[in-house]
Amino acid sequence: MFKAFLIKYAEIGLKGNNRYLFENALRDRIKDALEPCGDFMVSKEQGRIFIECPQEYDFEETVEALQRVFGISSICPVVVIEESHWDSLTQAVGDYVEKMYPNREFTFKVEAKRADKKYPLTSPEICIEMGAYLLKRFPEMKVDVREPQVRVTVEVRSKAYVYSVVIPGPGGMPVGTNGKAMLLLSGGIDSPVAGYMIAKRGVSMAATYFHAPPYTSDRAKQKVVDLAKKVSKYTGRMKLYVVNFTEIQLYIYEKCPHDELTIIMRRFMMKIAETLAEKEGCLGLVTGESIGQVASQTMHSLAATNEVCTMPVYRPLIAFDKNDIVEVAKKIDTYETSILPYEDCCTIFVAKHPVTKPSIKTIKSSEKNLEEKIEELVELALESVEVIDIK
Ligand code: ATP
Ligand code: MG
Repeated sequence: MFKAFLIKYAEIGLKGNNRYLFENALRDRIKDALEPCGDFMVSKEQGRIFIECPQEYDFEETVEALQRVFGISSICPVVVIEESHWDSLTQAVGDYVEKMYPNREFTFKVEAKRADKKYPLTSPEICIEMGAYLLKRFPEMKVDVREPQVRVTVEVRSKAYVYSVVIPGPGGMPVGTNGKAMLLLSGGIDSPVAGYMIAKRGVSMAATYFHAPPYTSDRAKQKVVDLAKKVSKYTGRMKLYVVNFTEIQLYIYEKCPHDELTIIMRRFMMKIAETLAEKEGCLGLVTGESIGQVASQTMHSLAATNEVCTMPVYRPLIAFDKNDIVEVAKKIDTYETSILPYEDCCTIFVAKHPVTKPSIKTIKSSEKNLEEKIEELVELALESVEVIDIK
């Protein structure tokens, strides 16, 4: 029944002179998101985005795609009324209500917006007159202006629009309006959620995954590719860098105290990710770390890991409990993939009793043992990096 949607946005409305950049980005992200759903026309119109659907399309699938476009505050399926003079308007709005609500035992209110100031009725007049028309045509409906069960919204522009269903969008800001960041993406629960959260603020994403064949399997890598695909439903197309970390890990294992392995490994991961981030034009790194979750995420450990980077490291989950992270992971549909039981490179070389309060001084002195070969190994890892286009 719906051949169009009105898309409302919230926060980007506050952006002053740059507002058009946000609106253009939102329009483009909507176009990208709807591409697999069919042929749509997407245009900007006075503080909102208008989507026309001339062809057949799947309503559910289209709404789901729109619910993943950051920057949308609400999605209103609308009926367009070509002829807006009063008699046709009342008739069309009445027809809309009749078709939309086979059972009309509800309270309602008419809300009106008049962008066309030449229209003979003012907004309050449209509300009153339209309300009276609907009451007469459908005596089973009752008016409640304070808490109606149904709000019938009528907008009069050059054409008129009627809607009564407002589907919440994801909020946030359109991806691409706020620079790019490099997500350290593992196969776990946390990092996909972290990427989702930063993207929600308008940041484009690239991702880096460290794998350690043959200690980590192809299936473990495929799992990360699958997670990246799920995250890219929100972020749009992104590059996934796959770094072969085996030689570096073995070398650290050979040369450094085993209780410091995880921290030293994490420091090299951050350094390598930072180099890739610079190449990719990213302005920050993103991780799924959360204070105290594991030994490598105590305040001491985070300080030691952070110390190798000059780029800002964004940790959106830093104060989240695991349960809260799991909740988001379920919402964005990454959870089921994340809990598949494949090994991660961080779990294969771990010590039984890793340090929980590493001192940066001690860690640095252990890293001196790596001086002979580490630069060359890092160089090799960077040269052999595999780039996967995720879409
Ligand atoms: P996650 O669920 O995200 O894997 P985790 O609880 O397993 O997190 P760690 O393994 O300590 O935590 O990793 C902390 C963060 O470091 C991850 O959220 C991720 O950003 C990054 N990270 C860990 N392992 C890898 C990896 N193999 N490749 C890329 N990034 C990684
Ligand atoms: Mg992990």
